[in-house]
Amino acid sequence: MATVKPVLLKRYDTLEECFCACMRWDKVDWENIDKHYWCGYSGFKPYRQNVGKWLRKCPRKAWGWAEYKTKTVHVWTSKDCEPKELINLLAHEIAHLNRPRYKDGREEERKANRTGEFAQMAYEMAMELQKKDS
Ligand SMILES: [Zn+2]
Repeated sequence: MATVKPVLLKRYDTLEECFCACMRWDKVDWENIDKHYWCGYSGFKPYRQNVGKWLRKCPRKAWGWAEYKTKTVHVWTSKDCEPKELINLLAHEIAHLNRPRYKDGREEERKANRTGEFAQMAYEMAMELQKKDS
């Protein structure tokens, strides 16, 4: 019988720690970090991000990544992170752990984005219901 592995959640105190775990680095080499870039897709739009700039001034209040092998979602949140942003992120990362797993990075990212957006909508709807009750 096939069993579904539970998804583990690992939280980090800092973005730097979360990022280092993703990169399998012990620590950030601040002297050379600006030589690193990462590329990805935001919807259909490709982007290239300087890692040093991003680590120093992350525009997001939450960031995470999914580790397929151990079924773990790794996450960091700033103290002023909105619940809806965290919920969107967690659902996004869990979607990456679920099949189908698209080989096309853009398609895989769209799948995760749709799941994250849906979870956020569900949260907002639940908050509306709560307001009506009180
Ligand atoms: Zn993603």
